[in-house]
Amino acid sequence: MSTIFSKIVEGEIPARVVYEDETTMAFLDANPLAPGHTLVIPKDEYERLNDVPDDLVTNLYATIHRMVPAVEEAVDADATTVAFNNGEAAGQEVPHVHCHIVPRFEGDGGGPIHGVVGDLPELSDDELDEIAGKIESRA
Ligand code: AMP
Repeated sequence: MSTIFSKIVEGEIPARVVYEDETTMAFLDANPLAPGHTLVIPKDEYERLNDVPDDLVTNLYATIHRMVPAVEEAVDADATTVAFNNGEAAGQEVPHVHCHIVPRFEGDGGGPIHGVVGDLPELSDDELDEIAGKIESRA
């Protein structure tokens, strides 16, 4: 399987590449949510964030860390929303891990990441304790 992002890495389809190193790449999103909307990917194809091998995680984060201020400064953004749609149920359409860096501007009419879910869950203290315990035991 070769994703559309792998085709960009291979130079088979065009993209506005704004950064590239041995293991990662950043390019403008073809359907930007804001001017400067940038995607950061590992060059190798991994579907979800947790599929990225340990030795590439640091590089991927380093590129995100590098690109956030580059994007903000380039378009004079007040802030950025930095996020992964991690899995189909979360809205991931391209099965190749990618970090969205979306420039944000005062009064742009957008919302915080808290807007991604519909109904908020009502959780008791016992339920919260149980969930926290399950996560902790797997971390
Ligand atoms: P997601 O829903 O998180 O999988 O987002 C996929 C993103 O990839 C969308 O924002 C698309 O606009 C973007 N996209 C799809 N094809 C291309 C392409 N050829 N070049 C740049 N961005 C693309």
